[in-house]
Amino acid sequence: MISSPITYALRALSTFFPPQKPLIFSGQGAVLKLADLMVISGQKRPLLVTDSFLLKNGMLDELIAFLEGAGCTVTVFDGIIPNPTFAVVEAGLAASRAGQCDAVLAVGGGSAIDAAKVIAAASTSKKSLAQLTGILKVKQPPLPFYVAPTTSGTGSEVTSAAVISDTETHKKTFFVDPKYIPIATAFDTGLLKSLPGPMTAATGMDALTHAIEAYTSRNRFADTDRDAAMAIKLIVKFLPVAYENGADEHAREMVALGSFLAGYAFSKASLGYVHAISHQISAHYNTPHGLANAILLPRVLRFNKTASAQRYAKLERMLSGTEGDAFAPEQVDQFIARVDALAERVGIPVNLKDVQPADFDAIAKEALAEARSSYAVPRVMRKADVVAILKSVESGDRSVRFG
Ligand code: NAD
Repeated sequence: MISSPITYALRALSTFFPPQKPLIFSGQGAVLKLADLMVISGQKRPLLVTDSFLLKNGMLDELIAFLEGAGCTVTVFDGIIPNPTFAVVEAGLAASRAGQCDAVLAVGGGSAIDAAKVIAAASTSKKSLAQLTGILKVKQPPLPFYVAPTTSGTGSEVTSAAVISDTETHKKTFFVDPKYIPIATAFDTGLLKSLPGPMTAATGMDALTHAIEAYTSRNRFADTDRDAAMAIKLIVKFLPVAYENGADEHAREMVALGSFLAGYAFSKASLGYVHAISHQISAHYNTPHGLANAILLPRVLRFNKTASAQRYAKLERMLSGTEGDAFAPEQVDQFIARVDALAERVGIPVNLKDVQPADFDAIAKEALAEARSSYAVPRVMRKADVVAILKSVESGDRSVRFG
């Protein structure tokens, strides 16, 4: 089995220098506690990075009033769009410089958090955004960075990565450095409650994908297994509750914590083909990241079935409360069926209308390159396997036939 020098390097880095976990505030009003921490830490001119939806709906009024009441001058940058681009980050950087900001607070989904990471780093750097792309490119400490995720999926609040779309190359560009990990994160159930059902479902399935890809990665460790398994338990149990009753604060908080743990697990153990393929789909068609992952997950689970049989069976025993039982082959399919059933229960569609057969070749090539360079996958795909998956994503038939 092949591992790239990058996956070996990331494994070594995680072993000897495990990434920091941010401080956590959780529950109703948690973002105000986070803001209080910023004030106590001496931040006077924060840049608030968010999207116009959250701002226009008044969801940030209390936060802004709190910071201003504490003597801060708040610069608001609300230009975040899903799958943020280099142009979006440049605009946020200009806002940071114009406001002479001394800290960055991202309130939003993975798109806001990722853009804010790069804005915080670029604000203190002489490098261009292009020079900051890649691994370990941040030399100066970024502006102090804080986040309040309003989706529960990407885990960006704990990862050392940011993903920015390049509209010219149709590729997602990675910025990876432990300096992108925020100081603190707030899971504010008041902000999480408004996430609509379909986005709750897609982002929750994104978090589940992170956890499963980490749990089945060849770069896994005992502690990534522990965090990924806990994330899977939390998401499988509470995602349907949060989806069916968005106002259930307990379920919202549990899914958010699941997403956080999944993010921590994958940032050390790495991801797999669901992400390798979904990144290309999102870069080509601007498909929401969580939705693309949610639709791909059942297909990739089937592809990895033989290589990951023991892992799936162990998860199935954990989820069915039969941890003490021995391995039995039927547990493998039961686990896959459980993931299918969860996707159905939270209304994940079986197909993606976006994907175009004319692009299958290019998407497959790019997906294989991403996986080869960055992920420690349990089983290696060929181009024909990716194309088979793309065909099944187009047709809506989950039972892909692999050659
Ligand atoms: P998102 O941030 O793109 O948000 C999706 C939509 O949800 C937006 O329209 C936003 O306005 C809306 N929204 C967010 N919170 C809301 C709320 N509480 N109520 C109502 N609407 C709300 O979605 P996402 O899935 O969180 O982030 C996707 C991005 O994260 C992608 O660019 C992806 O590549 C990236 N990502 C990053 C990492 C990482 O480690 N850095 C990991 C996975 C994905």
